[in-house]
Amino acid sequence: RHLLICGGTGCHATGSIAVKDVLNQEIEKRGLGEKIKVVETGCNGFCAMGPLMVVHPDGTFYQKLKADDIPKVIEEHLINGKPVEKLLYKDPASKKRIPLQNDIPFFAHQMPRALRNKGLIDPESIDDYIARDGYQGVHKALTEMTPEQVIEQMKISGLRGRGGAGFPTGMKWDFASKSPGDVKYVLCNADEGDPGAFMDRSILEADPHAVLEGMVIAARAIGATQGYIYARTEYPLAIKRLEIAIRQAKEYGLLGQDIFGTGIDFDIDIYQGAGAFVCGEETALMRSIEGKRGMPRPRPPFPAHKGLWEKPTILNNVESLANVAQIILNGGEWYASVGTEKSKGTKVFAMSGDINNIGLVEVPMGTPLRTLIYDVGGGIPNKRKFKAVQLGGPSGGCIPEQHLDTLVDYEEIAKVGAIMGSGGLIVMDDHTCMVDMARFFMDFIQDESCGKCTPCREGTKRLLEILEKICDGRGEPEDLDTLEELSETIKEGSLCGLGQTAPNPVLSTLRYFRDEYLAHIYDKK
Ligand code: SF4
Repeated sequence: RHLLICGGTGCHATGSIAVKDVLNQEIEKRGLGEKIKVVETGCNGFCAMGPLMVVHPDGTFYQKLKADDIPKVIEEHLINGKPVEKLLYKDPASKKRIPLQNDIPFFAHQMPRALRNKGLIDPESIDDYIARDGYQGVHKALTEMTPEQVIEQMKISGLRGRGGAGFPTGMKWDFASKSPGDVKYVLCNADEGDPGAFMDRSILEADPHAVLEGMVIAARAIGATQGYIYARTEYPLAIKRLEIAIRQAKEYGLLGQDIFGTGIDFDIDIYQGAGAFVCGEETALMRSIEGKRGMPRPRPPFPAHKGLWEKPTILNNVESLANVAQIILNGGEWYASVGTEKSKGTKVFAMSGDINNIGLVEVPMGTPLRTLIYDVGGGIPNKRKFKAVQLGGPSGGCIPEQHLDTLVDYEEIAKVGAIMGSGGLIVMDDHTCMVDMARFFMDFIQDESCGKCTPCREGTKRLLEILEKICDGRGEPEDLDTLEELSETIKEGSLCGLGQTAPNPVLSTLRYFRDEYLAHIYDKK
């Protein structure tokens, strides 16, 4: 039997390390070490239920474990074959216990691709990764395919950048491969900074080799010899597991010089960012790696032509890269077989806020938001009503009840005034003040503006002042016109995506919840 204990940051915070220690002690005490193996995995995804453990091969799912529960689990389940009823998952809708992970609605509606190894392998073991087809994609790309064929499969897959912009990954690689340059770079953007987002952290904690493998395939496609992973310093567990993965991949000859004896060289280093939100913007990220202040610069030239140290560079987000090896292994058509016409494959979301099943999920593109929130997310706690969902973090917008049947699709979500973003999804119930929500995001964004351009630097501060005034009951009716005019000026006059999208939370709340602004102004509350 394998006992898979979740070792993501969320479960560590709720006590999974102590649970694992007691498990190991009790197993040793009973002399069961030959029959039972304890494995600490990365994030299982069902963060709300941690510390959690899945017993394999049957797949029994234990939730909210405490160290004191362990002797009972060993005696009753592992020795006598009867799962401990009170520790099994309890479905809030039916109030029934559901013993097996795959039968729990949170998991049943998902389609893990980028997350295919989450909760199943020890992220610190390259052998575990290899046992799940790991490094077969890169072997195929390096020994059986030309760079053009790799790019062709990426184009067929329809994969679009999962960092938020949604630019076709194959096309980006094509530009860089055709760009002349003695040195080229592959960068991984792990500078996840949106409030409420933890997709990249969880992928890196659960399956770091998948990201490395994607980077080596990207390097093959464009002819790069050096890669950098730009990761937040605030993600120590992800960085530790990445360091271990890089060391193991080098020991196995999967990174470094002459990979698979093909004469192809590619190395990866980690660069730790200090937490500036703007460094997630690609040109700012590159300046930061160069040792300069992380500030965006105008494009063109685009990074595929002149990027890091003025050399052709591609930057892909963690989730995008985690999909690459499976696309190469199974073919672009396999990936494109699910999704919508323009948004192929699956999308990872980090669900948080007023929702029962807080956690990390992956669903096919084209899934209605209602399914995501009610079937996967388990709906709204405490019998409250759904009010809105904020998609795309501070650059995104809120989607109200009447648009909950919108599909997970880049274009469809943009039509209702939000953006797909990187996948942060914050649900709000009918207690939430939407003006206060807009104020929160504006407070964040004005603090993170790098200050290079006036509309963003000064405009976001003025927006915040007006929102604070309205929240304090000092607002005037004409403030709403000022908010809208100023928002348009900031969008049009800002250099980078941070400024261009900064007013979105204000504009979308004004669009759908204007009555709340008016209530603050006229009722002075
Ligand atoms: Fe900096 Fe804002 Fe201008 Fe972007 S839009 S370059 S964050 S000041």
